[in-house]
Amino acid sequence: MTKSLAVFDFDRTIVNGDSDATIINSLKEKNPPPEWDSENYDWTPYMDNVFEHAYSAGMSQDHILDCIASMPPTPGVEELITTLDARGWDVLVITDANSVFVDHWFKTHGLKSCITSVITNPASWQRGRLYISPCARAAGCPRCPDNLCKAAELRRWRTGRSYDRLVYVGDGRNDYCPATTLSEDAIVFPRRGYPLHDLIKKTLASPSPQVVAKVVPWDTCHTITHELFPKDADSSESTVH
Ligand SMILES: [Mg+2]
Ligand SMILES: [Zn+2]
Repeated sequence: MTKSLAVFDFDRTIVNGDSDATIINSLKEKNPPPEWDSENYDWTPYMDNVFEHAYSAGMSQDHILDCIASMPPTPGVEELITTLDARGWDVLVITDANSVFVDHWFKTHGLKSCITSVITNPASWQRGRLYISPCARAAGCPRCPDNLCKAAELRRWRTGRSYDRLVYVGDGRNDYCPATTLSEDAIVFPRRGYPLHDLIKKTLASPSPQVVAKVVPWDTCHTITHELFPKDADSSESTVH
């Protein structure tokens, strides 16, 4: 039996906010971390620097993990992910966050067993300090930062695996590169009003659009559940309202 694959971004897609920003904002209350400067920093080394700063400022492992656990999900995402899992879909998360944040959030929200795999920047605790290293080095994509090209990671994941359906759910600029690699029978779900949606609208208005997949913008993940499983969504929505 062939499988289906749902690919998710994490920040502002599965969780409503941004995990890195959540920690930076919490740290600002205590001891402001260095400012992000895109001229001088790649994102992953910058976050490693932030974690060093958090450690020096006495921000504990428990506090950081509690901040992550308390991030609210986007509306309807838990139902969407559990439905995909129950239907036997592979659920792949590709994110520029880090393994500690993503694992902890899924664990505390009871979704870990629904997630097939997470591709992200590996992180680990050493004596209360969080260390992060890049997912990849020199991804070699002109569109993407050196540490992560989601299109390249998706291509690698699909090597040797065959899927009859493929859908992609995201919000950010770095979700555009993989969106351009999807075929006509795939669906891309950009979060409405966020950068991925703007980039897709721009390419669709151009003479030679780079995105050929079906595009379904969403405000809540109920839209996605409804698109993929029309009957289920109808019955569950009637119980919600
Ligand atoms: Mg995102
Ligand atoms: Zn790329």
